[in-house]
Amino acid sequence: MLELEKYSIGTGDRFGKQAEAQLKSVIKAKEAGKEISIIWNKSYREHAIIHTDPVSVRIAADHAVKASNWKGSYYVDADHISLKTVDLFMDSSDFFTLDVADYIGEKIDQNEVDTFVKENLIYSGKINIPGIDNPLMITEKSISKIAERYLYAVKEAGRIYRHIEEKKGKGNFITEISMDETDLPQTPEELLFILSAISREGIPAQTIAPKFTDRFNKGVDYVGDPEKFDREFNDDICVIAWAVEKFKLPSNLKLSVHSGSDKFSIYPSIRRNIRKYNAGVHVKTAGTTWLEELIGLAESGSEGLEIAKGIYSSALNRYEELAEPYATVIDIDKTKLPSISEVDNWTGEQYASALRHNQNNPAYNMHLRQLLHVGYKVASEMGERYLAALVKNSDIVGRNVTDNLFERHIKPLFMEKK
Ligand SMILES: [Zn+2]
Repeated sequence: MLELEKYSIGTGDRFGKQAEAQLKSVIKAKEAGKEISIIWNKSYREHAIIHTDPVSVRIAADHAVKASNWKGSYYVDADHISLKTVDLFMDSSDFFTLDVADYIGEKIDQNEVDTFVKENLIYSGKINIPGIDNPLMITEKSISKIAERYLYAVKEAGRIYRHIEEKKGKGNFITEISMDETDLPQTPEELLFILSAISREGIPAQTIAPKFTDRFNKGVDYVGDPEKFDREFNDDICVIAWAVEKFKLPSNLKLSVHSGSDKFSIYPSIRRNIRKYNAGVHVKTAGTTWLEELIGLAESGSEGLEIAKGIYSSALNRYEELAEPYATVIDIDKTKLPSISEVDNWTGEQYASALRHNQNNPAYNMHLRQLLHVGYKVASEMGERYLAALVKNSDIVGRNVTDNLFERHIKPLFMEKK
């Protein structure tokens, strides 16, 4: 039976050239005494935008693992799949993120709600969950409301799960359930009964990705109140620990944070809480790996820098088209974007400084960063020219990819002392 390890990190690799450089970051962690599994994820949306096949992620992952002689765990995540898209990922993935956010609030038969409420009535009243400040106050009505809102979505997760189980066999893959791509965050009470419903459906979920409060924009830091996140994260960990026992869920069930990359300001909170409760976590991050490619190309000078500049100018010209699929997860102030001629005059260092996610650098520009992040379609259309430049400059690009993952993500999430 495939069992996900306690600590894992999910990384994206849009163009399939950085798996080795990404893997190097967990090798460095292991050398420093921290065991972290690496999970490559690429969503249907990404595949569709740049016309790649899910099997390419498996090939790149296997190849990197072999070339690096990595003996630790690694997986390939069919990220955000639904019943409609799952088959494309069936052969190449061993980790499936069942995305049922679209089914939240979907109407469900009243009998189903009534049965769920009846079965869960034993949890009504005051529930003291260790680690949560105030007891949860559960009423028959609140269970019924949660069932009305989430039961259909969990049933849908059950349908997807059983479809995969039929094809791949029980225990041969890891199941995650995600509800993060929605506007309203789930409360601890909701999470509790969602987990109850997951157990009733017989889904052996090993990770769950709730929606947390505030903004998780793509490629830039968290926009919100880190203290609020801290409480929410604390409470969710405690609810999961409690639910695992009560509902007989897999003992390694843990939170999955779909970070949209680079939520540095909440990393200390994640680190402290998993330590406090000896809990595991999966963090999906560094979908921005492709921005490290751009940084590396810019730093390489000459043709690499020309390519990086060309991508910016096309991205700016095609702003509407590129931003549209990501409209809910980016916040770009167009007046803060440098003009094409300005960027054309930049040195490689200036380009790298504007793009690299170092908030202490006054030259860092989060608007440019977000635009470039959603602009990977432009690089993909460049085709061979872009890919050849990556190969030619693989040292400097790879160094940026590894350092980014290790220094800015793995270290603050898992390795810092306090
Ligand atoms: Zn997500």
